[in-house]
Amino acid sequence: MEFMPTKTIISSSYKENQHWFGINYNMNIYKGCCHGCIYCDSRSNCYQIIEFDRVRIKENSTDIIKKDLKSKRNKGVVGTGAMSDPYNPFEKKYKLTREALKLINENRFGISIATKSDLITRDIDILKKIQSHSPTLIKMTITTYDDELCKKIERNVCPTSDRLKAIKQLSDNGIYVGVLLIPVLPFINDNEENIRNIIKSAYEYGAKFVFSYGLGVTLRQNQREYYFEQLRRIFPNQELDKKYIETYGESYENRSRNYDHLLKVFKEECEKYNLLYNMKDIIYDYKRVYEKTQISWF
Ligand code: SF4
Repeated sequence: MEFMPTKTIISSSYKENQHWFGINYNMNIYKGCCHGCIYCDSRSNCYQIIEFDRVRIKENSTDIIKKDLKSKRNKGVVGTGAMSDPYNPFEKKYKLTREALKLINENRFGISIATKSDLITRDIDILKKIQSHSPTLIKMTITTYDDELCKKIERNVCPTSDRLKAIKQLSDNGIYVGVLLIPVLPFINDNEENIRNIIKSAYEYGAKFVFSYGLGVTLRQNQREYYFEQLRRIFPNQELDKKYIETYGESYENRSRNYDHLLKVFKEECEKYNLLYNMKDIIYDYKRVYEKTQISWF
């Protein structure tokens, strides 16, 4: 394992990012991610993460996080899981995310975690403590209902069925949890059956919301090349890369060709199961019980 020096781990979120699940600060203890999602945007050149699939640890993360939290004038929600999954396989041994959560609890900050790993259930005890005083939001990413497809496109992390079980465990423990249905991959999982099954399961396993955005996938620079290479490997003879080029050229946004229909299905299904799907509603809902004690949560 490579440890890399760093000065800060918890940084202030850009104002516009606060619309993203109401996050005030960003935290990345690990650099790179080995979960192997074929579409991962963090591979893009613009982020300058060399050898993205190799996980590195930021040195002395616990001491730095302690200092970072003390230096913040305002309490807020710390978001993690944007450029690297905080529950990668190394977290089992190093427990750095767990240590960070303990500090977040001690300093009375809120937390918002995005992950694809069921390892998060290990930390339910601390998440419950944080939620007792501050907003706590868990986003479990699920892109396909089909475990076999999941093992191909997100090959180094637990499959959908295990993520659903993790949602159930979190929910049974009273933790505010929902599903991130991002991305939707044209020609692969952009079908009605997949959307319906994910939303129905989210409901059955205790999720409070399902959030999706754009019903497509973003592709740029080297990330596009990597994605096409993986499509050729996983789906040989289907010429999916050619289909993408014919349909989208080099565009950044690659929306499902069934966008209008899928969006209608998505909204109808969420409403049927009483699941939130608008960002504003989700932010309001997971923070509202803290409104009286700390108006700044909004
Ligand atoms: S889990 Fe997230 S950060 Fe890791 S490879 Fe997948 S999309 Fe990228």
